[in-house]
This record gives sequence, structure tokens and C-alpha cells, in this order.
Amino acid sequence: MIRVRARVHGIVQGVGFRPFVYRLAQVYRLHGWVKNTPAGVVLEAQGQKEPVRHFLTVLQEQAPPLAAVSGVQVEEIPVADDAGFVIRASGGDGTAVLVAPDSAVCHDCLAELFDPADRRYLYPFINCTNCGPRYSIIRGVPYDRGLTTMAGFSMCEACRREYEDPADRRFHAQPNACPVCGPQLILRDAQGREVGGDPLATAIDLLKEGHSLAVKGLGGYHLAVDAGNEMAVAELRRRKNRDEKPFALMAPDMVAIAAFARYSPIEAGLLQGPEAPIVLLAKRDQRLIAPAVAPANGYYGVMLPYTPVHHLLLRDRFHALVMTSGNLTDEPICYRDEEALARLTPLADYVLSHDRGIHMRADDSVIRVFNGQPVFLRRARGYAPRPVTLPGSQQQVLAVGAELKGAVCLTRGDRAFVSQHIGDLKNVATLDSLAQIVTHLQDILQCRPQVVAHDLHPDYLSTAYAESLDDLPRLAVQHHHAHMASCMAENGLEGEVIGVVFDGAGLGKDGTIWGGEFLVGGYRDFQRCGHLRPVLLPGGDTAVREPYRMALAYLYDMFGEKLFGPALPCTNAVPSEKRGLFVQMLKRRLNAPLTSSCGRLFDAVAALLGLRQTVAYEGQAAIELEALAETSTAEDGYPFEIVDGGDSLSVDFRPMLVAMLRELSGGRPPNELARRFHHTLAAAAADTCSRIRRQTGHDRVVLSGGVFQNRLLSEMLCSLLEDDDFHIYTQRLVPPNDGGLALGQAIVAGRSPLCV
Ligand code: ZN
Ligand code: ZN
Ligand code: FE
Repeated sequence: MIRVRARVHGIVQGVGFRPFVYRLAQVYRLHGWVKNTPAGVVLEAQGQKEPVRHFLTVLQEQAPPLAAVSGVQVEEIPVADDAGFVIRASGGDGTAVLVAPDSAVCHDCLAELFDPADRRYLYPFINCTNCGPRYSIIRGVPYDRGLTTMAGFSMCEACRREYEDPADRRFHAQPNACPVCGPQLILRDAQGREVGGDPLATAIDLLKEGHSLAVKGLGGYHLAVDAGNEMAVAELRRRKNRDEKPFALMAPDMVAIAAFARYSPIEAGLLQGPEAPIVLLAKRDQRLIAPAVAPANGYYGVMLPYTPVHHLLLRDRFHALVMTSGNLTDEPICYRDEEALARLTPLADYVLSHDRGIHMRADDSVIRVFNGQPVFLRRARGYAPRPVTLPGSQQQVLAVGAELKGAVCLTRGDRAFVSQHIGDLKNVATLDSLAQIVTHLQDILQCRPQVVAHDLHPDYLSTAYAESLDDLPRLAVQHHHAHMASCMAENGLEGEVIGVVFDGAGLGKDGTIWGGEFLVGGYRDFQRCGHLRPVLLPGGDTAVREPYRMALAYLYDMFGEKLFGPALPCTNAVPSEKRGLFVQMLKRRLNAPLTSSCGRLFDAVAALLGLRQTVAYEGQAAIELEALAETSTAEDGYPFEIVDGGDSLSVDFRPMLVAMLRELSGGRPPNELARRFHHTLAAAAADTCSRIRRQTGHDRVVLSGGVFQNRLLSEMLCSLLEDDDFHIYTQRLVPPNDGGLALGQAIVAGRSPLCV
């Protein structure tokens, strides 16, 4: 007979872990107890040696679906004398509890949902300890019904029995509910009047008729229309004031998806996982889906239903619904009922809502798979607030990100909690959302930061927010250093590496705008060892929306004042009477700062090829350039030059552009040029890394920045670097774009003198 005490760390609370332990103890006929403590789950188990050993193995290997066991410490203790195995009441205040992310409805619940004999048949809020809302309904810790938005619903007798029975799948399932005692759906018209009849059946009819509905989900409201109805989709696009950005789709099951998109086993696994993200899938048959869903784009963003409401809406009814975030462009997703009615009814004809509150908003996550790896384009519902494990413990730091694709990060010990995607911090609504998320994370993690890290740019709203926390010491972290550190941190790297950071823009140490950077360094410090040859950014931010300006900046770099010589779509974009002024702007550098941005190089090439002279959203030209390049099989690149400027290398693409202009006038197909541009950029980056390795001896390369959302470039560069025996590290746990920046800022601050 032996007795062991085990401490189980990780996401083990609010996920059915204690009943799992209880059931396991029954199987192995062990005595003892299990309970939640501030440090995780603690248990004692007593029995014959062999069964106890098996019990401990199975404990880790077969943990419940939402649990994530990060470690188990076992010690042998003296045998005691208890009768049977019990679940003890929680002890302590739950400070080290890791709150679980929201999860898609599980298979068991789904089976009950569609079982006419089940007491929750067709009940839209069915859930259990293995699934359902978590992060979005939690108002504080410990995770207990009273501190969730379910507090106002008292369980009926049948629900309470399940809740109190350790052998039941709903033991301590905090959102447990049924049609008798739980939340209910309500359908309203645009004036806020309740629509009579069965809300679900009516909602389905309305969608079928081409109406748009605001639908309350887990982390906020969606705007839904029938994805097969071109008129309805086009009307939603008009109302949402969203000209070209693709809409996400929700399809009832994998068979339905297969009819209009292609997916690999990895993509299928992601779609069907409890996180249920939007996955970018290559288009297949385009007849089922209205063209207005994703114009000028080779991909659909697709997800599966993840709440019972979604299943009830879609099952046997639609090939797919458009399910786009319920917001006006550039504003955060709506999640409060009054707000939804006020702000979404101009966009939606009806609102399908319910009375279970959302405490924390969270958009859908977006993932793209390449190089056999999922890459986050947006990390939010289903993943937040799951932590990234840092390569070491550090002081508690709050990092607030930059401007685009905002997300914050709070560290505790060796864990970095990266928040859900917040949106572009360009307005007060988004800034308010950021402040709210910071407070919420501090509450549920019971953690107060000692230092705040922010971007070097003084004008970002995130920087202003950091400055408003005036009792905390602050550290400004250079944008691309943060990108590099983010990739290092999630890969657990120490020491110095080469960082290839390609993105749209970030303020450099020299006051110019960086974005095509080769850095060498670690968390503490870095050197800028190389960069793309800087060009002017004519009109500053306007150039981001008008890529022809970047093409002209490159033409100016090549031909000086004769830039309007070649007759091209980008030169034609400037009427002849305005050309003199444009040249003056460049010559005198009026509102034309220098930039080494790689994102802007993509814009310039897209404009030169006649693909896009203006864009509706940041990165659009680059996305379309990549899509165009994918239709060619050209294998070779163009010439380029790497110039050693003494303290740094400068990558000069003028030889490439000269060759491209020649081929353009020779009538070569643009898709071939687009692909050869990708080859050139990859070759130039790999060459620059080789030279830096010769100078420094470093052979580890981290790749970060929004440009690495580009599959083609990433795969080309990785394959060149691999052939050249580099060790390559990419971002898989947080996005390579600015959504992953806060993680880097947090570790740079944690390793800075402020924290040591
Ligand atoms: Zn379930
Ligand atoms: Zn009930
Ligand atoms: Fe960036």
C-alpha cells in the first residue's frame, strides 16, 4: 500500500479535471481526495503500488479535452486512513488559476442537442465541463458560477443534481443550464420590438428571405446573411461600408465546406478543434458562394459552428452563412445587448439575442496554414488567454502593443498572457476596449504589473495609454526589436540571433520609418545590421492607401525627376497638371519621410504591375500580389545588389525594378513578374543573412513581421535558409504581425535594467 500527493499545473480548473480524477480513482479503487488550490489541482491517492502508478500515468495522458496539463509533481507520503475518494471544497483564493479559453460545443452535447428524447433537445445553451463559454463570461476568480454572467440564473433541480454529481459530465460546469432554468433566445426587429413565434425558426426564415441578422455568439455579435444570396451579401457590404475585405463564412460541417473550398488534414483538424477558428482555405467551386463574399481573393475564411445556436441555425438549412464581426469597420466587435441594438440595427434587419451576458468581447481567431504549420493572422476567441511559456521567470510586465492589430500582454512568472485581438488602435472605442481588457486580465490573473512596455512611437494611442499609468516605470521598445523578441520568446531562445523583420511600418531608432530590417541581438539589445534601401514615402500615411505613390517613390529613386517617363498605370494615376507638385514633394521631402518598409515595396510592385493603384485596407495590394504570383510557376528571380554601407548592409532592388520594367514593356505576363519578385526578395533576404553570419557567426534566424503572413515568400525564404544550414524560427503561438508584438515588448522589458 502506498500514498502519493500530486500537484497538477496548467489549465486544470473549470475544465472537469477534478471529476475526471474522481472517476479515475474509482476505476483504480483508490482512496484519497482531490481539490482546487491557488497553485493548481492537488490530490492524494492511496492504494496498491501498481494501480497508483497507472492512475498517475493516465492522469496525464487522458486529461479532459479542455485541460492542458503543464506539469505534475508527485511525492510519496505516509499512508493515511480515509474512506473512499472525495472531491474537497476549493482552498485559497485561486490566484494561480489559469482561466480556460471559450470552447466550441462538444460532441456529447451536440448528440444531446439533436436527440428528441433528451431534456435539452434543441436547447441553444447546452454545455458541459468539456465545452462552452469560459473566458468571455468570467468576471473574476475563482472560476465559480457567482463570478460569471450566469450568476443570475439559479439552477433547477435536475441541473443542480448534475452539477453536484462527481460522476456527471456537468459536475461543476458553471454555465450549466436547461430550457427550464437557463438563458433563452429572443428575436427583435430593428426597432427593438420582440418578434413573436419561435425565435430560431423565424430567424432561419428571415435569413432564407435574404434579410441580415445580428446574431449574439460567444465573444460578441456577428452579422449574418445567407452566403449564397449575392443581393444580401452585397447589401451587407454596402451597409458595413466595407468595400473589398473578405467576409468570413460559417458552414454546417466538413462536407458542406468541401463543396466550395479545399482543405488539408491540418486545416481540417484546426476547423474541428475546440478553438474553432476561421481558417483560410483555397476556393474550389465558386458557384455556391456569392461572389461578393471574397472578391479578388483566392481564399475563403471558413469556420464551423461553435455554439449550439450556430448549429441550430445552420444544420440542414444553409450551405454557409456569412458571419462577419458585428461592428462598423475599424470599431471593436459589439458584445453588449443595448449597444448591439443601437449600433448594429442600421446594418442588420433583425437581432437574434439572448440573456446570457458576455463579459469579455473576443473576435473570431483567424489562421492560415503554410509550411505545414498554422500561422495566426488573428489570435482571439478559443486561444485567449492561454499563456505562452517564456524561457525564464521575470517581473510582472504589462506590454501594450503598437497601433495596428492591437493586443496586450501581461506576464506572471514564466507565463506571458497575450490578450485577444483588440483591433486597430485608431479611435477611442478601441482604446477603451484595450483599457478594459488590461483590467480584466489583471483581475483574473490576480497580477499587478511592475513595469509597462510600449512602442517607441510617441503618437500611438497605446503609448499614450502607457503614459497614463503614471505610477509605473515605462520602457519604450523599438518596433522591430519587439517583433524579433516575440519570435525568440515563443521559441524559447536565449543569446543572440539574426532577426529578419519585414512589415509595414515601425518607428526606427534613427527617426526614419523602418520595415525591412535585418537585426542582430537578443532581448537586451540589438544592432541594425541590414535593411532595405530606404525610399521616400510620398504623403506619409496616404501612401499606405495609395500604392501608386510607392511605385513613384521607387521610380524617383531610379530616374530622379524623370520618374514620369514610362507610361504606366502608376504614372497615369497622377494627372499631368499635378505631376510637377508630386516631383516637388519628393525633391523637397515635403511630407515624404524615408522608409525601408518591405510592405511598401510590395505595394510599389503591385502598382507597377498595374494590379492596384489604391487599396481599401492595409496589406490588400500585397495579398493580391501573392495571389497573382501563385498562378505562375516561374523559378528564377531578378538581379539585386547588397551594398555594404560600413555599419549596415543595404539591399538595393533597383536592378530588379529595371528588369521588371523592361519585361513589362515586352509584354511578359504580370503573374510571372509577381512570382519572380517573390523569388528575388527571398534570395536577397537569404543572401543578407549569409553575409551577416560571416560577420557575426550567428546561424539562428528568426522571421517576424506582417509580411510573413505571405505563404509564398515564407516558404521560399525558409527553403533557401534551410539549404544554407541556418536554424529557422517562426511565429506559431502568436501572430507574426503586430498582434504578436506585445509578447516581444514584454520580454524585452522583463530583461531590461528596469526589471533586474
Ligand atoms: Zn459539452
Ligand atoms: Zn435546469
Ligand atoms: Fe510591425
